[in-house]
Amino acid sequence: MRPLKIGSLAGIPILVHPSWFLLLGLVTWLLATNVFPSWLEDRSTSVYMMMAGSTVVFFFGSIILHELAHSLVARQYRIPVKSITLFAFGGVAQITREAKRPLAELLVAVVGPLTSLVLGFAFLGAWFLVGAQDNHSLDVMLLWLSITNFALAIFNMIPAFPMDGGRVFRSLLWMVTGKYETSTSIAAWTGRGFGWLMMAFGLLLALGASGLAANPVQGLWLIFIGFFLETTARQNLVQGKAIRILDKYNAADLMMTNPPVVEADAAVGRLARGVIEYNPRVCYFVEDHGALAGILSAYQMLLIPEALWDVTTAREAMVPSKRLHAVAPDRKASEVLMEMEEGDLTHLPVVDDGRVLGVVGRDRLLGVLQREGMIAARA
Ligand SMILES: [Zn+2]
Repeated sequence: MRPLKIGSLAGIPILVHPSWFLLLGLVTWLLATNVFPSWLEDRSTSVYMMMAGSTVVFFFGSIILHELAHSLVARQYRIPVKSITLFAFGGVAQITREAKRPLAELLVAVVGPLTSLVLGFAFLGAWFLVGAQDNHSLDVMLLWLSITNFALAIFNMIPAFPMDGGRVFRSLLWMVTGKYETSTSIAAWTGRGFGWLMMAFGLLLALGASGLAANPVQGLWLIFIGFFLETTARQNLVQGKAIRILDKYNAADLMMTNPPVVEADAAVGRLARGVIEYNPRVCYFVEDHGALAGILSAYQMLLIPEALWDVTTAREAMVPSKRLHAVAPDRKASEVLMEMEEGDLTHLPVVDDGRVLGVVGRDRLLGVLQREGMIAARA
């Protein structure tokens, strides 16, 4: 399931993941059948539907603004932002790497809940301006939007990594201790703890246990969010461990020197046939007039249907060098992997002083993690 692009703001693409429609449907349904009928009585179903329909537009607009705030501050610190994605649990700004300084992290994290807080006050102000009456549809909608934005601000400030509050918590620990990894572990373990608490409370709420009025929808939703929080916090701990393992190596330790060099006009068929079966990690340097034109790995060759192998040249199939980021030989292995993730690449050339020393492949990096038992070996 791939996210769809619905537009862009300040040059940042806004994407929606198919799972987001679940949240859209749930929120609209809750508003139309539950919230608005109890706040404003004796209206027809179509009025409630229209109120719900226009309120969710502003609700998701608020979430996008919250994520945009994170993104714009991140960009101020030269941290690239890939996109803002709406999905089943709300929104997320795809900020491609972590801040290098605690202050940057603190500001990037805190500005989101701050935006929700400002929006909460803005909707509250609008509610006062239209008269703050409890028997008008517009008033009720504005009040709900105000309360929801306040709730978002508070909820996001729970000190559970990777929520905003958890990031604030980590950056403060990081500032005080100067230890990034320890701070991350503490914040991630707190995140897991909160995840378990939410799931437990959600279960009690869903069942109506210990004196609570049973509310299966809110209970289930809490269980889902708690599960999501626990999972992402745990993944973050695993990721931290993977980075520590990878960082025992640098690009030069893992690179393949002297990869086979081929001419740009060579047909893919000649390079792939009889080669890929024996060496699925094969990777060619593609040369054009003596200069490195690009890299061609088995991955790119296999993207081309075999029937077209003989009419496709290495030049057409390769990743051209202008798309490849060259890495220095002393670059840490974890950063090389991140660079690959950012650029959607499988190989990067290792270059020192303009001289190409070799090529480092994603499979080598994953192999290191495999040997250490971090990821399951592929069959
Ligand atoms: Zn946020």
